[in-house]
Amino acid sequence: MNTLNQVLLNPAFQLGADLDGWRAAGGGQGLDAALADPGAIIATLEAADLRGMGGAGFPTHRKWAAAAAAPAPDGDKYVVCNGNEDEPGTFKDRHLLRWTPHQVIEGALIAAVAIRANRVVLYINPHQAEGRAQMRRAAQQWAGTEAVRRIERLIGKPLEIAVVATSGRYIGGEETAVISSLEGGFPFPRRKPPFPAESGCHGAPTLINNTETLANVPHILHHGAAWYRGLGVGDAAGTKLYSLSGDVLLPGLYELPMGTSLHDLIFVHGGGMLEGKAFKGVFTGGPSNTLLTARDLDVALDFDSVRLRRSRLGTGAMIVISEGTSIVRKVAEYIEFFANGSCGQCPSCKAGTFQMARLLDRVDSGRAGPGDIAALRNLCRILPGSGRCGLIDGAVTVVESSLHTFPAEYGVAEPAPAETA
Ligand code: SF4
Repeated sequence: MNTLNQVLLNPAFQLGADLDGWRAAGGGQGLDAALADPGAIIATLEAADLRGMGGAGFPTHRKWAAAAAAPAPDGDKYVVCNGNEDEPGTFKDRHLLRWTPHQVIEGALIAAVAIRANRVVLYINPHQAEGRAQMRRAAQQWAGTEAVRRIERLIGKPLEIAVVATSGRYIGGEETAVISSLEGGFPFPRRKPPFPAESGCHGAPTLINNTETLANVPHILHHGAAWYRGLGVGDAAGTKLYSLSGDVLLPGLYELPMGTSLHDLIFVHGGGMLEGKAFKGVFTGGPSNTLLTARDLDVALDFDSVRLRRSRLGTGAMIVISEGTSIVRKVAEYIEFFANGSCGQCPSCKAGTFQMARLLDRVDSGRAGPGDIAALRNLCRILPGSGRCGLIDGAVTVVESSLHTFPAEYGVAEPAPAETA
């Protein structure tokens, strides 16, 4: 584990539900700073260039500003910590929930101050039982504290902190599905607009942030935007939790400067490839993005640099594949995951992911006929944009990318045309 520039994984903060310990380690000062100057919070996040760590990399301050500006007809505003993490290869948020719940809750309380929210919801995957229990204990410790009373005086009403179990389904982490779930229904994604920050849970402005995003906030408010920006490499700001898995010697969770190269993550911090294995590629940011290969080892792992390679940093998950591993098999597993995770309300998604999984399985098992690759390519052409949420587009991206980058594994001699890759 890298010990430089550690913020979220600072050993002093791995305290579990111990509020006194968190305060003794310097916790609480970010919230104090926020309460001392609530009007400066969003500008500080903008200056820090904090991005959404759940996958999109969207500037955090813009969401917060929208939620702060949105009227609350019934008087309620929500802050939701999205702890649904359920994607293959991603295991960062569960660590934060389990080991540093106060770091996360303090970030959510600062969000409540910034947008004047009276309801803080800690939305946690029930499969992460320890994390959910820790968050519940930690939330109880904040109740009735002087810090919470100060927030209540500021917003002019009681502040409720609730721990809510998600549906445990992958799609339940999608932003609009969070709203459906919190309203008591099945986590069906909804069309946007309206965006949750303007009209979310029961029509109230609802600010939904990933767990890692919120965990960064207390430190930024405490130490300042310049300090945070200085933690990254080059123009990238802050640190990033990278979930490293696959055929590496030292898989695990690494907090490193945002913008650390893919090479250094794998070959310096991750110890390199397993003995006797040669590097082949990386499923980056979870299994729904364009694959990176050896020619991308120099890429800086930040949102903008990875996008320039036509992929996405996503959650920061890096699933490393070695020569000898079947790309088609891996992609088939991921598409089956998406097919099972589809909520089913868009026929193209339900049928399309199922059909792609079936075709990939045929290719992998050597049963593919001459028309199967053409059928797969045709699905990649017609499915994007046909769903209500991004699940179908992500599934197509990884299929299309593997077809383009590893055509021989599909029994295809030439790469697919560039415009479809
Ligand atoms: Fe559900 Fe798939 Fe439609 Fe998303 S694209 S709303 S997961 S059916």
